[in-house]
Amino acid sequence: MIFQIDKSQQQIEKAVDDFARGEFKKEVVAELAETRQFPDKIWKKACQLGFMGIHFPESYGGEGLGMVENVLVAERLCRADSSIGTCLSRAGYASEFILRFGNENQKKKWLPKVAQGKMLAGGAILESREGGDIGLCTTTAVKEGNEWVINGVKSFVLNAGPLCGFYVVLCNTGENEPASDRHLSTILVEAGRDGVAVIDGGGMLGLRSMSIGTVRFEQVRVPLEHLVGSENAGREQVLTCFTERRIQAAAELLGVAEGAFERAFQHVAQREQFRRKIIDFQVTRQKLGAMATWIQAARLLTYQAASHFDDGGASDRLSAMAKLQATRTALAVCDEAVQLMGGYGYVQEYEVERFFRDARALGTLDGTQIAQKNIIAESLVRARGSLAIS
Ligand SMILES: Cc1cc2nc3c(=O)[nH]c(=O)nc-3n(C[C@H](O)[C@H](O)[C@H](O)COP(=O)(O)OP(=O)(O)OC[C@H]3O[C@@H](n4cnc5c(N)ncnc54)[C@H](O)[C@@H]3O)c2cc1C
Repeated sequence: MIFQIDKSQQQIEKAVDDFARGEFKKEVVAELAETRQFPDKIWKKACQLGFMGIHFPESYGGEGLGMVENVLVAERLCRADSSIGTCLSRAGYASEFILRFGNENQKKKWLPKVAQGKMLAGGAILESREGGDIGLCTTTAVKEGNEWVINGVKSFVLNAGPLCGFYVVLCNTGENEPASDRHLSTILVEAGRDGVAVIDGGGMLGLRSMSIGTVRFEQVRVPLEHLVGSENAGREQVLTCFTERRIQAAAELLGVAEGAFERAFQHVAQREQFRRKIIDFQVTRQKLGAMATWIQAARLLTYQAASHFDDGGASDRLSAMAKLQATRTALAVCDEAVQLMGGYGYVQEYEVERFFRDARALGTLDGTQIAQKNIIAESLVRARGSLAIS
């Protein structure tokens, strides 16, 4: 197994680095995070350069590339800045439901709008009660004539708000049936439909430039053709899309770890204490050596999961391992980075405190570390303990 980034992939990395260097101005980023504003101008420019939806086929506004390229973009954006990078990387959140399961009309209508920066997309999947147990979904969609009528409330919906064009909503479509995995379906709902209301999620520890809210659906009517894929296939769709999403989340966390590492490295390389550079203390070198090793391990797992996905072998185990390893790496590296920078690590201007807070949020999104371990263990049980990745 060789994970070699080829020439065209290196060019993508360079293009993202150049873009971030030009657009992620420190004062602009700090202002956006402080005032909880989405970086809409930067997002539109990133879309013009083809970074968003890079994995969509060209016929749907993308670049026709794969998960590896998507991962490289996410990694480099988040390395340049944890908050803005994550906003951009997640601008098309849940579009994969349309890409993987939508019909031709849905793909042609919605995916180019996401890739071209005309709208954000949101996944209204989880509810306050159910957490990761999606079978408890209480949001209902009932057929009336040629429409679905949707009622329910979804929590923690990324991109909820004025820039969002549509939500993919997980619904219980088993009329008069109690909630269960068997009756779940996903339905595309335009954000502007009557009966859709967004309630601000309030202040959060990290990811403050991202719009995250509760979305209420009250007697929302959409045409029956807004069903994504087949009826009652919602559970499979969520599992498949989350397998894909976790690889991208791993790339974001990897980028956050790299960004925190670089900032801490530069700091200890120039700051002196007791008439020596901090980098010349043996304990500092021990820390840097360990941090770089954790990052490399997370990078290899993430790239392996991405290339396995591109080869048609999406593996829930590998994607959960990548997310778990990248989460642990980002949390540990950001923690050490704050420590290595002493009091400055705690100061906003030096940025790593924000990377630290954003890493905490990213570790929970798309499933906690415990959830990832459960997925890995379930896969091991299915495979009778075999460590081979299939
Ligand atoms: C910033 C942010 C953005 C998000 N964006 C979205 C979004 O766009 N769309 C969306 O649908 N969701 C979104 N989420 C929701 C996110 O996926 C959930 O918060 C996450 O999956 C955890 O679910 P929960 O909050 O209900 O916690 P719970 O499931 O209540 O978990 C609480 C604790 O219990 C542990 N736990 C849960 N189950 C088990 C178990 N079986 N065994 C042992 N321990 C367990 C958990 O690991 C955790 O430590 C977002 C969350 C955040 C923080």
